[in-house]
Amino acid sequence: MDIEGVLFTESEIQARVGSMAHEVAGHYRDEPCTVVSVLKGGFLFTADLIRHLTMPVSLSFAAVSSYGSGTTSGTLRLDLFPSGLEIRGRRVLLVDDILDTGRTLAFLRDRLIAAGARELKTCVFLDKTSRRTTDFRPDFRGFDVPDVFVAGYGLDFAGSYRNLPHIVAMRPRGS
Ligand code: 5GP
Ligand code: MG
Repeated sequence: MDIEGVLFTESEIQARVGSMAHEVAGHYRDEPCTVVSVLKGGFLFTADLIRHLTMPVSLSFAAVSSYGSGTTSGTLRLDLFPSGLEIRGRRVLLVDDILDTGRTLAFLRDRLIAAGARELKTCVFLDKTSRRTTDFRPDFRGFDVPDVFVAGYGLDFAGSYRNLPHIVAMRPRGS
């Protein structure tokens, strides 16, 4: 696979992040919230988003890996999770790079609610709606993307490209 083309330029990304931050800020008003960023892919979007937020924000991280057969159908394992104090009784905003089947965020959402979050909202930059296998719906989302493999702006291809300031579509092998 190599790069097929640019899907979103750096300026398109930054404009959308700014408008999403406006929506998020309108929801929280001046109330504090805990942002839980999903590693590794969600870190760039989270960093850009929270710089626009004006309410008190505390920052935590979560990480999930999939193991077992294949990459998408394996069992999910929690690798990193915020402490109870960071979540209990708080309004929590779960932030990730891309929503695909919805399994990762549904899994984390359920755990954050079980950890005592007072309110749980989800925010994703990209949404592959056509691939959804759960009834998961994000509260805030940036762009819809077609069913292609994307990289850049936090998203990797075989461990690389997370540092690209724009988002590219990868060309499937053999085409
Ligand atoms: P889900 O659990 O919703 O199926 O998968 C979400 C996770 O799959 C994302 O956090 C991301 O790590 C990964 N993912 C899904 N689609 C893509 C893609 O097109 N490119 C990259 N780099 N990761 C993806
Ligand atoms: Mg991810």
